[in-house]
Amino acid sequence: MSETTNSPLPVKRVNLRTPDVMAAVQAQVETHYRSEVVERVRANGGVLSVGGVTVKLAKQFGFCYGVERAIDLAYAARKVFAEKRVFILGEIIHNPEVNRQIADMGIVNIVGPDRTAHVDGLTPDDVVIVPAFGTDVGTLAKLKQCGVQIVDTTCGDVMSVWKRVKQNASEDMTSIIHGKASHEETRATASHAVLGGKGHYLIVLTLADTDFVCDYIRRGGDAARRAEFLARFEGAMSEGFDPDKHLQRVGVANQTTMMRGETEEVQRRIMAAIKDRDAGTTTNYRFFDTICGATQERQDALKDMLGEKMNLLLVVGGYNSSNTSHLAEMGEAVLPTFFIRNAGKMESRERIVHFDQHKKAEVETANWLPPAPVVVGITAGASCPNNLIEDSIVRVFELYGIDRAQVLA
Ligand code: SF4
Repeated sequence: MSETTNSPLPVKRVNLRTPDVMAAVQAQVETHYRSEVVERVRANGGVLSVGGVTVKLAKQFGFCYGVERAIDLAYAARKVFAEKRVFILGEIIHNPEVNRQIADMGIVNIVGPDRTAHVDGLTPDDVVIVPAFGTDVGTLAKLKQCGVQIVDTTCGDVMSVWKRVKQNASEDMTSIIHGKASHEETRATASHAVLGGKGHYLIVLTLADTDFVCDYIRRGGDAARRAEFLARFEGAMSEGFDPDKHLQRVGVANQTTMMRGETEEVQRRIMAAIKDRDAGTTTNYRFFDTICGATQERQDALKDMLGEKMNLLLVVGGYNSSNTSHLAEMGEAVLPTFFIRNAGKMESRERIVHFDQHKKAEVETANWLPPAPVVVGITAGASCPNNLIEDSIVRVFELYGIDRAQVLA
């Protein structure tokens, strides 16, 4: 067991991105995640037709810059610290295939089911990777106290949100965060919103949550309403949050991977409530749009594709991936949409197993694939590697009796 001191040990800095390390990493990443089929479809303008079966890919899909960087750094850490124990705080990204690869490389997750990082036993000889979502301030402090080598892969877009909420705290504004309270990124962001014990935060997920908050801003609350507020947002607000005090000055920010339209609506509704309360002024309101570029591009590309003629849409990715789930939501509003973790879920033309976000469980749909001629749209979230997208494309053709060789002919 490591002996920890009250003051953190100096942070060790190592440059992992040397040309030789990165060349080896790129080669390994390519072997794990590259796809010849996806490259073929891309080269063909995003469309591939064989024997009356057409597959269309959204213009933007799959790995984003933040995810690519996080994976590169994790692979580099494994190479550079080949003789050391390497750990990770939870999942590097929300994709089971990628996380399996990371585990197969001997990188061990130290976050338990209680969502706490178990640092007992870590020594200064160990290496800990912080995933792309970042981690909370308390966990980072514990790691520093252990003196471990930290490999921080936090995406720059996530750090931009932290900057915003820290600014809110320094100006005595409560951060209202549009996001999922249990998501790693939002938990990390929330920890920055109370940095130095000064600020407060409240996390809203739905428009119904937002309306509840807006009603409180406009009308305040009696004892019963206040109790209802505290019960509703239990686990989604800072310690000591008092709705009567801490909704006076608010700054809205969001998890980077939310649905753009919904985040804008949250901002609009809260601003309207503040204006109603404050005689038309917005001095006590601020917002920062912190949807990341990659999320936005994937949503925009899907929006464009949904305007084209398609029989159905496949959304490929991890079920706990926020940006992927929003793509599935967009598809569902327009046409039959199946959110699948991998190609194996397309069991036959007659049966597909897919994730139902409303039931939060996998469900089965029968006779999901119509006879040819057919157009199948495919998109994937920022955490989905190309090899999984390839498997899905190949599987669709296979279900019509067209094999991989014919697809690549
Ligand atoms: S989805 Fe956005 S915030 Fe998350 S890693 Fe990718 S670019 Fe960064």
